[in-house]
Amino acid sequence: MASMSSSSHKEELPYALKQLNWDQMHHFNSQDTYGYKGEPRLLSDAMLQCDMCEQWFFLSEVGCVPKDAKPFVPFQRNYRFSCRICTGGTEQFELQQNTWTSIALTAIYNLLLSDDGTSLKAGVWLKVKNVVSWVQSHWGGLTSGRHQSQLLENSAISKCLLYTQNAALFQMSEDKSEVLLKHVAPSKLQLKPLISSAVPNLPMVARSGGARPKAESVGGAGSKHASAACMQVLITAPTGSPQARELAPSLDQIKLPDKYRMLPVPKIEMLGAPQDPTVVQLSRPHRAPQITLRENEQGVALSAVGYKGYRMVRATHGVSSGCYYYEVLVQEPLHGEDGHMRIGWSTEAGDLQAPVGYDVNSYAYRDVNGAKFHESLGEPYGEPYKAGDVIGCMLRMGEPGAIVRQRQRFRDPKGVEYLVEEERARVPSVGSVLAFYKNGKPLGPAFTDVHAEQYFPAASLYRAACLTFNFGPSFAFPPPDLEVDAYSPVSSLATPKSAQDGAADGAADGAADGVADGADGDGEGGGEGGDAGEEADAAMDEAEMEE
Ligand SMILES: [Zn+2]
Repeated sequence: MASMSSSSHKEELPYALKQLNWDQMHHFNSQDTYGYKGEPRLLSDAMLQCDMCEQWFFLSEVGCVPKDAKPFVPFQRNYRFSCRICTGGTEQFELQQNTWTSIALTAIYNLLLSDDGTSLKAGVWLKVKNVVSWVQSHWGGLTSGRHQSQLLENSAISKCLLYTQNAALFQMSEDKSEVLLKHVAPSKLQLKPLISSAVPNLPMVARSGGARPKAESVGGAGSKHASAACMQVLITAPTGSPQARELAPSLDQIKLPDKYRMLPVPKIEMLGAPQDPTVVQLSRPHRAPQITLRENEQGVALSAVGYKGYRMVRATHGVSSGCYYYEVLVQEPLHGEDGHMRIGWSTEAGDLQAPVGYDVNSYAYRDVNGAKFHESLGEPYGEPYKAGDVIGCMLRMGEPGAIVRQRQRFRDPKGVEYLVEEERARVPSVGSVLAFYKNGKPLGPAFTDVHAEQYFPAASLYRAACLTFNFGPSFAFPPPDLEVDAYSPVSSLATPKSAQDGAADGAADGAADGVADGADGDGEGGGEGGDAGEEADAAMDEAEMEE
């Protein structure tokens, strides 16, 4: 077609994309129409999903996959792709660092493909060693960011499968030598690309036997992560004027904690202008880039609008101890579209590309059926809610309050900056309570004894959902079951410590704290089917450390 190379008129798909009927995960459509030409697909076709229109395109018709990203295999997920219809001319492709869970899933899907490529074989136990050797024989773009020695020496794949066994994806045999994929129905597969908002999954490192790791080895591994991080920040964050910043010390100038994880630091100029730290508002860095924030006349961001899949936004300030309250006004979804939400609390490690309540980091109350969510498990809780309702959120921390982790910044020999964060086990904050209110009506405790972490007001928005936050001090519906002096408005978190009774908690200090957002995975569609493996990936990385 001449239109492909001509810039004078825009290329269009030969079919109506908007009229396709998709399954809940937006994997397959009932018209079996995909790609630039509207052709049917087999499961065995290597496909790329456009991050803008969400249509799937055939690898064979995509011209922008570079040589070093090959072989690009069916079910591969570590990329970001925009089709040339959406970009108006040039396809865009970026390879992302892959997670072991995602690598293992890709291998298992390929090993289970039926001979005709139309389905996955159900009830087949695969030998873990065959999964490992499949990964070895497809080394390349699939394993970007991973070292082959890691796979062999630590048998990372089998550990990853082991840790994922309770996460609804796999079942392991008793001797751990075989694995069974629990769901082979196309709608239950994890096919979507791993789109990550700021940084890829967090590499965790430990000192072995008290010895300091060689600066060389940490720097070497770090530079890989760093390039992935910079790449992602570049494509997702708004650009702004570069600002001078203090040079971080080099690795040999800082004292490393015994157990820690390294977080790449996004460049501060990528996060936009700093927000006023004296006002609690929705945080620009602690927000999935697809979510739009709206400021009021005072320039304070209190409203958020969703876009497509479930994505998260958090407030600028978090609760570490004491009792705090905020409320959210549910607005009509924009443009007459539909929209859904989950409202609650999240630590700064909560995945911004997932709903609140998706993993261990967050707790949520969902609109549709009034269920509460934590670690993707939904349980009956309160009433459904909709536009016009005001949802109150109360968090009372117990003992201990949030565990404070030591953080230090350093730069590797190439000048790339990282945060080193001390790693500690999660412990319950005994006596803590998280409760919700609907239009002033107490719905009772939703969660108790939550992890002793710092929690930020958080909401996830699906499609055109729109929410307006009120952090206080005056509320439409103050909690009727709490004495006025028994709780503080979240707005008071921004007042200087000296002005309060020691209940204030530190503000998230912009860029440096923005880096913890990058656990990857996706929370598309209904949200329940998200990538349960990412937590396991972290667990696996941790297991690697203990060797
Ligand atoms: Zn597209």
